[in-house]
Amino acid sequence: MSSEVFLRVDRLKKEFSLKVAWLEAIFKGKKRIVKAVDDVSFYIKKGETLGIVGESGSGKTTLGRTVIRLVEPTSGKIIMDGMELTQLKGETLRRERRNFSIIFQDPMASLNPYMRVGKIVSHPLEIHNIGTKQERKEKILWLFEKFNLTPADEFYNRFPKHLSGGQRQRVVIARALITNPKFIVADEPTAMLDVSVRSQILKLMIEIKYEFKLTYLFITHDLASAKYICDRIGVMYLGKIVEIANKEDIFKEPLHPYTKILMSSIPIPDPNIKREKLIPKGEIPSATNIPTGCRFHTRCPFAKSICREKEPELKDVGGRLVACHIV
Ligand code: SF4
Repeated sequence: MSSEVFLRVDRLKKEFSLKVAWLEAIFKGKKRIVKAVDDVSFYIKKGETLGIVGESGSGKTTLGRTVIRLVEPTSGKIIMDGMELTQLKGETLRRERRNFSIIFQDPMASLNPYMRVGKIVSHPLEIHNIGTKQERKEKILWLFEKFNLTPADEFYNRFPKHLSGGQRQRVVIARALITNPKFIVADEPTAMLDVSVRSQILKLMIEIKYEFKLTYLFITHDLASAKYICDRIGVMYLGKIVEIANKEDIFKEPLHPYTKILMSSIPIPDPNIKREKLIPKGEIPSATNIPTGCRFHTRCPFAKSICREKEPELKDVGGRLVACHIV
């Protein structure tokens, strides 16, 4: 991994307006806003895998999609490989899209069921006008061989429904890789797969990362996958990153109370080792009604009065960033 920063995200926000009943809109003048990503900053070094972990509803999927402008940011800056993505428009943005891609969670939903897989993987090459028909086919067959989708010629002509879950996800990864991108957002890439196939897909992702010199943003709620594949991990809660640190530090000594709770939920294989299981109070609040002060205070077992009033900033604690008044 290089020390050079590849991606810098600065104060990124993504808000969605929700429709409200017209009476509420007229008499209360209310607009309901979901703050899915709320002032998030981080960097990823070249060749690094940054994991974003958190419960569902934490905003991690929206963050991943906003970073590559599949979703338009409300405000903030995204600088990728020296280029400000947030400034790109029209044809320039379309041209740059070949340099970044996404692996979606559900391979069945992300593959057109009426297209043969060869055509599906060829699609990004056609959009970007890369190679002749023959060159495209050769590249796809080469990738299929590499990804154990063999005999490659036969797979080229199959429909997604004729593939297993693991094979479909290999096709999704081949499609993400076909334009030689530099950066990939992997959004829960193994969540829909059988446990037996998960480690194969993660191994494949690690192999191609080195071979194709990729940088990853890896989104997951599965801490075991994050531990396996990531270099650093950011923990997200209700649209904010509350802790970000090296994987080793996060797993060995989580500092933020929410990170501690997440870590205490990981099962320990050794029955002789007991770990105190921390349980958060209640459900994750709605992103339309974010609690005042520290947004985790309604569930935090360590909350103090200041936590209800003042929002903690991410601050440096021994080389990692943590947003908590008591750390
Ligand atoms: Fe808990 Fe307070 Fe820290 Fe928030 S700031 S995580 S409520 S102790």
